Amino acid sequence: MELNDKLEILADAAKYDASCASSGAPKRSSEGKDGLGATNGMGICHSYTPDGRCVSLLKILLTNFCVYDCQYCVNRRTSNVPRARFTVQEVVKLTVDFYLRNYIDGLFLSSGIIQSADYTMEQLVAVARELREVHQFRGYIHLKTIPDADPALIEAAGRYADRLSVNIELPTQDSVQKLAPEKNVHTIKLAMGNIRLKLDEKEAEPRAPKFAPAGQSTQMIVGADASDDARILTTAETLYGSYKLKRVYYSAFSPIPESPKSVPLAPPPLLREHRLYQADFLLRSYGFQARELLPASGNLSLDIDPKLAWALAHREHFPMDLNRAEPQMIARIPGIGIRNAQRIVELRRMRQVRWADLTRLRCSMKKVAPFIVTADYRPARDTTSSDTLRRAMADVPQQMALFPELQAA
Ligand code: SF4
Repeated sequence: MELNDKLEILADAAKYDASCASSGAPKRSSEGKDGLGATNGMGICHSYTPDGRCVSLLKILLTNFCVYDCQYCVNRRTSNVPRARFTVQEVVKLTVDFYLRNYIDGLFLSSGIIQSADYTMEQLVAVARELREVHQFRGYIHLKTIPDADPALIEAAGRYADRLSVNIELPTQDSVQKLAPEKNVHTIKLAMGNIRLKLDEKEAEPRAPKFAPAGQSTQMIVGADASDDARILTTAETLYGSYKLKRVYYSAFSPIPESPKSVPLAPPPLLREHRLYQADFLLRSYGFQARELLPASGNLSLDIDPKLAWALAHREHFPMDLNRAEPQMIARIPGIGIRNAQRIVELRRMRQVRWADLTRLRCSMKKVAPFIVTADYRPARDTTSSDTLRRAMADVPQQMALFPELQAA
């Protein structure tokens, strides 16, 4: 098979991995690979490094042959899809060629499991090693790790890769057992724990060998099982706390050709994935806890973002006086982000904060108005019901852009 044919198959097969895909991207469908935003053709996707740079990555699988039969996966053993396999040298050559032509800044490499977890992991490590040691490649490398692989191989991967990720796949052990019977949540968490230990060692001893400087991440599939957002977000919160993950990625389940009966025929609303990313951002950056963001129904609201939903459910905090409130509470006001909360606090050290200051800070005035008090403004009457506010502020498409940071490598 020609290299280009392999590339077409293995770039297409990699698009289901959300770990370096745009969180608000159009539906990832296995049909129609030329649609808007499709990560097709040469397998180049845009992603964000931890320092916020937008980078282009060659996103491919080493192979889509797999001895496992995960029900939600297009590459599962029993799936009837064209298969291909790169050699280590082919991946290295593609990466170097694309890099030299300025097409890419780095490589995102994952793989189906061939022969054994150790054998597959050896191949992934071999690609990264050859890039770093033979070609002096200084670009970004994100390697998927195989949880069952020997910890020594995962350690070796961390020496060459910027980021490692181990997919937790599904939010509950029961779901993993049912839909990915060859996988084991205990083993997955053990691999994450080992990576965390190595990251901690490196942090404590800067002279220790380099190890995954961009940390570790994971991915959870949304909508392949019956888990609601409450379960997903609580699992994410536990993972952040236990394994110091940089990111949890949420991937809306994408129905696959000839799907087994154990997985849904229709995808979840893509907005559900987006709301999870927004809630996740609030956990990581705003000090929210999952339980504060979760409604009784179990799923995040689709019509309004989670921060607005929290504010409407906690009217007792509002309207909030911007000249007196704690900085972390100001950041919880809908329409005011962390940076503007800091600016407001700096400003009020010099003088009273006024309505025009918020306009200058480009806050969303329609959104903040019911929730704030300034030196010259107070909402006319605080009797507008939360339902009325909710209807007035129900989401508009532009709000998809409220969390630009969501798409990280
Ligand atoms: S291990 Fe499971 S999820 Fe990974 S490629 Fe194989 S079938 Fe797909």
